[in-house]
Amino acid sequence: MNKRDISLKRAAELKSRIDDYLNIKDLIKKGTSVQQKENIAKMKETILEFFKATEDDWQDWKWQLKNRISDVDTLSKLLDLDEKEIENIKKVGENYRWAVSPYYLSLIDKDKFNPVRLQSIPTGLELDGEGEKDPMAEEFTNPAGSITRRYPDRLIINVTNECPMYCRHCQRRRNIGSVDSHKSKEILKESLEYIRNNPEIRDVLITGGDTLALSDNMIDWLLSELRSIPSVEIIRLGTRTLVTMPQRITDDLVNILKKYHPLFINTHFNHPLEITEESKAACEKLANAGIPLGNQAVLLNGINNDKYVMRLLNHELLKCRVRPYYIFHAKHVIGTTHFNTSIDDGIEIMEYLRGYTSGLAIPTYIVNAPNGKGKTPILPQYLLSRAKDSVKIRTWEGEVIDYPNHPTIDIKSLL
Ligand SMILES: *Cc1c(COP(=O)(O)O)cnc(C)c1O
Ligand code: SF4
Repeated sequence: MNKRDISLKRAAELKSRIDDYLNIKDLIKKGTSVQQKENIAKMKETILEFFKATEDDWQDWKWQLKNRISDVDTLSKLLDLDEKEIENIKKVGENYRWAVSPYYLSLIDKDKFNPVRLQSIPTGLELDGEGEKDPMAEEFTNPAGSITRRYPDRLIINVTNECPMYCRHCQRRRNIGSVDSHKSKEILKESLEYIRNNPEIRDVLITGGDTLALSDNMIDWLLSELRSIPSVEIIRLGTRTLVTMPQRITDDLVNILKKYHPLFINTHFNHPLEITEESKAACEKLANAGIPLGNQAVLLNGINNDKYVMRLLNHELLKCRVRPYYIFHAKHVIGTTHFNTSIDDGIEIMEYLRGYTSGLAIPTYIVNAPNGKGKTPILPQYLLSRAKDSVKIRTWEGEVIDYPNHPTIDIKSLL
């Protein structure tokens, strides 16, 4: 065979490696598909009518936050709920808080297994009593203020427990509590003081709850305080508003954020249905302000524990200039264990990303070690054995190859 024939044969083989995905990808719900755009528009109209609200209200994040749906009566006027569901939602509400922004609710259609519905509307499964309260043991890694410190050079400041939507799978459910409360300035000042006194901290993550539930003024103040600490190199902000309330990304907010570069934002999309024209526009606004965006998905049973859904999600994220960063293995948190998956599900997803798609679309799959011992990456095996002068590797297509392990020779001894 000549070179061109060999190349053509290989190209045909590669084409066959993507057929399964191409056959299935149009069946996965996507927030930007014609069908879903229609559903969303209809639901939005219903919600606006119910609240006797206008398009301007809808675009106002304060309206969205104030009008979160958090009682069964209102919910049952907007969604079809049967008696059993109503009863369960009431029961869950006695134990755990729930609330959904009107925007996020508009992504729900008639499908009982709609991934947005599963993430936002309580079910009786939350009451099974299994799981732990604080598997992350955050209480034992809190040296000052509202800081969580588990790593040598970086830490988290928790600023609020408020979110536009309370995820049914929230791994910080314990912090969500029953009422909204932002951390006081005193607590934040104590946290800042700790960072000032520990100059090895070069990376500060602001998180919640949802960081962008804070007012513009508060965000401006906190960021300017952090920037006044010379040892702080980068600031990261965690927010799910891009997914749950994209109206939060106003021009005013963007103008504040861009004063504090290098600033990174990590968000939390779990399913391609969550990527809508609105959320896309919000991502673009931030990216245009020079803010690198990352995504931290949680691996969730019945929502995204599927190699094709995850691949599509990561592709859709890149189209919004959001780089997939982590997929978190869901911990055994009380009230959320029905969302847990096996580690095998996560490994299978990773197996069908590497090689099959752009490296840019491949996040790291993370298991949080118990007791706050830290994020631990999990990968399919590519290194099958390792000896002094040779290793055995496996390619993405499963071919096993011996590869030499030449020792490193001190470059100075060679020159
Ligand atoms: C996740 C986390 C970080 C950030 O970890 P990266 O791997 O750098 O993204 C920092 N501190 C705590 C306590 C964390 O849980
Ligand atoms: S946005 Fe984050 S903190 Fe808030 S409920 Fe969802 S997962 Fe929990």
